[in-house]
Amino acid sequence: MALTRESTQQPFWAMSIEEVLRGLESSGEGLKEEEARRRQKIFGPNEIEERPHLVKLKIVLNQLKSPLILILIFAGVLTLVLREWVEAGVVFAAVLVNTALGFYQENKAEEAIAFLKTYIRVRARVRRSGGEREIDAAELVPGDVIRISQGDRVPADARLIFVNNLEVDESPLTGESLPVEKDINTLDAATALADRTPLVFSGTLATRGFADAVVTATASLSEFGKIAKFVAGSQRQPTPMQQAITRFAKRVGLLLGILAIILFGFGLWAGQDPFEMFLIAVAAAVSAVPEGLPIALTVILAVGVQRLASRKGVVRRLLAAETLGSTTLILTDKTGTLTQARMELAKVIPYQGSQPEHNILLLKEAILNTDTIIENPEAPPQEWRIFGRAVEVALVRGAAAQGVLLPEIQKAEKFLDRLPFSSEHKFSGVVARLDNTTRIVLLGAPEVLVSYTDMPPENRSSLLGEVDRLALGGERVLGVASAVVADHEQILHAKKFKHLNFRGLLTFRDPLRPEVSGAIKKIAASGVKTIIVTGDHRGTAEAVARDLGMVDGRGAVLTGDDLNFLSEEELRARSGEVTVYARVTPEQKVRLTNLYRSKGEVVALTGDGVNDAPALQAADIGIALGSGTDVAKGAADLVILDDNFNTIVAAIEEGRRIVENLRKVIVYLLSDSLDELFLIGGSLLVGLALPINALQILFVNFFSDSFPAIALAFEGGVDNSGQRPKKLGKSLFDGELQFLILVIGISTSALLFLFYYGLIKWGFSEDMVRTFIFASFATYTLILSFSLRSLEKSIFSYNPFGNKYLVGGVVLGILLTALVIFLPPLQKIFGTVPLSWPWLLAIAGVGLLNMAAVELGKWIFRSRPAS
Ligand code: ADP
Ligand code: MG
Repeated sequence: MALTRESTQQPFWAMSIEEVLRGLESSGEGLKEEEARRRQKIFGPNEIEERPHLVKLKIVLNQLKSPLILILIFAGVLTLVLREWVEAGVVFAAVLVNTALGFYQENKAEEAIAFLKTYIRVRARVRRSGGEREIDAAELVPGDVIRISQGDRVPADARLIFVNNLEVDESPLTGESLPVEKDINTLDAATALADRTPLVFSGTLATRGFADAVVTATASLSEFGKIAKFVAGSQRQPTPMQQAITRFAKRVGLLLGILAIILFGFGLWAGQDPFEMFLIAVAAAVSAVPEGLPIALTVILAVGVQRLASRKGVVRRLLAAETLGSTTLILTDKTGTLTQARMELAKVIPYQGSQPEHNILLLKEAILNTDTIIENPEAPPQEWRIFGRAVEVALVRGAAAQGVLLPEIQKAEKFLDRLPFSSEHKFSGVVARLDNTTRIVLLGAPEVLVSYTDMPPENRSSLLGEVDRLALGGERVLGVASAVVADHEQILHAKKFKHLNFRGLLTFRDPLRPEVSGAIKKIAASGVKTIIVTGDHRGTAEAVARDLGMVDGRGAVLTGDDLNFLSEEELRARSGEVTVYARVTPEQKVRLTNLYRSKGEVVALTGDGVNDAPALQAADIGIALGSGTDVAKGAADLVILDDNFNTIVAAIEEGRRIVENLRKVIVYLLSDSLDELFLIGGSLLVGLALPINALQILFVNFFSDSFPAIALAFEGGVDNSGQRPKKLGKSLFDGELQFLILVIGISTSALLFLFYYGLIKWGFSEDMVRTFIFASFATYTLILSFSLRSLEKSIFSYNPFGNKYLVGGVVLGILLTALVIFLPPLQKIFGTVPLSWPWLLAIAGVGLLNMAAVELGKWIFRSRPAS
């Protein structure tokens, strides 16, 4: 009998473990690999799918929702009613182009963001065909037996079959913020979801202990899957910058709307044809509104986030993509970020005795404490594939090299209880039968372990002196302490252990990542300080800082104990000089984060453990390591897939580029928005015929000028890193931006107006002059866009044609304009005449003149000292 979808929807909490296993046709040893594969065909991947078509439709509707488009459509309908077919055609073509471009961009952004989710895979530890393996959680099926440990995201709904102090944070499902204790007891069938203690639910987080469980439901059959159907893809909170830009665009739009109405009234008063004037006012208003800005921002964010993902930094909240650029301080841990975490067991130092058998015993006790999976235990030890924390993997490998084999010990001995490693305690513990005695063994920070022994003070200080000496050599030092115990119940979790015997020290080499030293200097040069905040020993941390060239004297290091003694004011006073905080607890990480934030720093902080979640949330940018726990990843804004410090630096640079690109697009879109108003208003004022007509205005804004804005959003090449942190509020609309917009915007329209006035008075043919004005107007922003590729560097310092999208967009814009001037049918529609060479050169001159103005503005702001 095959398992069906219905068999996953039983009241498993009201069934005994045997009944559950029978109902799911599984056993305590899990499924056979073939059976799991068969079930994958029935149940599909353990993933919650979204419905892409619906999303696409919504994006199209989004485009038509803008008030701007509604105004255009209204004007279009009016032209139809008045049987002005040509006008109607152009207006509706503008609507079409705008919708298509808007859709293209928003869809692109949507896809980029959706793709991000696929980077962070949840892994699951599963028992199949008699072995234990780590697989992608998407491959789980009902009946699989899984191990859930502290820090894991529960990968599927499951019935617990064994627990050890398991506590689960179910707030993603129930909203209940306190963790729930879990057990294996069968309950009444009427028990409500939140009280079903023998079940764990997909999407919730294990915050303590560990457990084994049999998967009852996956994907959309899980409790989370059932609600996810309703919320999938529906809500994405706009970021503060998106909100600000949208507000800005609205405000500008309103202002321009009023101006357009005034212009309309003014035109009527000046004796213009009402219909003509109405169309002009609508066209001018619609063109002046920076409606492309919010979309451009979304695209810039999405493109930046995607580019960052290809460099192994995955942004979990778009908000973070903005904030990254303003980071001024990185609080980084050491293991994995600064070091390679490819640890190697270096020394084995028994506390008493130096015979080989002492080494063996020490290693045996130590590896009892590891929580690792060896995927191929039957292979020779050199070929083992081991999963687990870096130190523990190193320990298992190192011990095997000395003939102490974990699989043999696991087979021979009985594990009675376990306390997984936590950075809070700084050790892990186990109670096990070893060599016919029941023992408790702790593995972890030596200073912590000695406090559980009866070591005389003089021995203690000489031991800790030895530890300091080893640590200053840059090695990571772990201690082992153990004792024979009579009764093992709760001894570990209640921390009722005393009188342990110190057994010895183990040291691990963890080489530095070669690229980190350069990365720290580079990011420091652009205004971001780096501080090490580690749970590790002071000496080890100091050695690392020294090797990275971060400290010279001893004064720059504080330990967790120092932190306990220092008052808030004292710490504040010293915090400016500290480059290393060692032996800190997760709570102290929160304290440090808040302290630096209160000093005005924008803090990025790394974390990997369950207890790091509060600090990650307290930081402006919480960074989880890819190798870290699912809990840390869930609390983080950014996940660094390769754990590498360099990726943090890359992320900050990417964040700055996002802000920079936005500034470019703002200048581009706003600089020509006032042109029409000035040109037309000026002409009305001096009693000239209008220099450009409504269709020309629509053409310029919806056809020729649309494409470079999109291309600028994809800009990536020129500024490889900004010089300074980009404080959002300030640097978005700083003096430079205002200057550029005003200079380009006002001077160009004034210039064009003067040309118009002068050339007409001079006696040139009015058609020629008007075509010249139109063409200059259509092309000067195109030419200018090459200067806008960087607001920092001079155009002579980069290849202006390096962005092929931009080149394409500009060529397209110029081509379209040329068609309007030289193609007879289009001449008729837009009222243009062919221009001769001198005119064309003059058009190019207008563009170059504007470009020179922008370069001058950039130069002025470049040579001013940074404030
Ligand atoms: P880091 O900042 O280097 O990541 P951790 O918080 O991971 O520091 O580790 C702090 C201390 O806890 C280490 O110095 C070590 O003594 C101990 N420790 C680290 N990992 C383990 C482990 N897997 N088992 C036992 N003890 C550990
Ligand atoms: Mg760590």
